[in-house]
Amino acid sequence: MKVVTPGITILKRYGKYANACWILEAGGEAAIVEMPMISPDEHPPWLRAESYARRRHLHVKYALLSHGHVDHCKTLPQFRRQFPETNFVAHRSMVEDRQFLAIMARNSALPFEDWVSGRYRIFDTLFDGPLWSGTLGGEPLHIIYAPKHSYTDVLILFRGAMITGDWFLGDLRDCNALVRPNHKIEAIQRATQVVSELGYHVHMLFSAHGDSLFYDVDFYAMMERSQVAH
Ligand SMILES: [Zn+2]
Repeated sequence: MKVVTPGITILKRYGKYANACWILEAGGEAAIVEMPMISPDEHPPWLRAESYARRRHLHVKYALLSHGHVDHCKTLPQFRRQFPETNFVAHRSMVEDRQFLAIMARNSALPFEDWVSGRYRIFDTLFDGPLWSGTLGGEPLHIIYAPKHSYTDVLILFRGAMITGDWFLGDLRDCNALVRPNHKIEAIQRATQVVSELGYHVHMLFSAHGDSLFYDVDFYAMMERSQVAH
């Protein structure tokens, strides 16, 4: 377990791609970010999250994903079963993504018949626009839709930090070419605009895997440098 900054904790980095499971918390309320793929010998992250929340008397209000790739979302049905009262929030692009839906359909913890008939839903809240906002203990939590690494990408803002999913920042070439270069640039510009309109001071950038943790970052300069058409 690693407290990245007060209120933002990595429970552990899971599975062969070492993807983090995060807890955001304030004033007795928490959000889970990422429901990662795990290795067979690992203690399940949904149980770790449950005991973490119980020991600290946290109400797990939200569960979020940075994007719909398997290393980030594979155990969502297990989390959903563990946290039936939690509001699972996603951008609508997630439930329109065939790859994500195929990952869910293969998961034996997902009640397939109920899902097909519409009695079971993967998410409680779907948003369509560029921004969704909630609160944890009265503190703002924002989600910005911004496809760069995948068409399901969101950026998560809390306590001055942005969890950037699998975005490659600066002028680095992304690790895949799923999103068209002009769409990436649009996403960066839109994210910058949303942050500016919110008047939000982003000063930390954390990759969803938890492997690159930038403290004390000039957000606008970093976004400017990331607008490379490749
Ligand atoms: Zn990843």
